[in-house]
Amino acid sequence: MSLQIIKEAIAKKKMLCPQCSQPIQKQEKFAETIDALRDGFNVIDIDSRASRVTLTCGNGDCPWTERTEYWDQYIVD
Ligand SMILES: [Zn+2]
Repeated sequence: MSLQIIKEAIAKKKMLCPQCSQPIQKQEKFAETIDALRDGFNVIDIDSRASRVTLTCGNGDCPWTERTEYWDQYIVD
């Protein structure tokens, strides 16, 4: 589950703000997105599952916040 991964990354301070490099403090409005594509007479449904979340840095006066599908790029190991 993506939400579980995000929550864990934040709890373990493994998700870092790209602006100040401090651990991101907050996630909200998590949503799974499903996109379907239809092609002419043949209905081809392509489900691409992604998840979108709003991340907020929340450190000091850092204003960074982003709604993104590419949240995994902020997770470090
Ligand atoms: Zn920040």
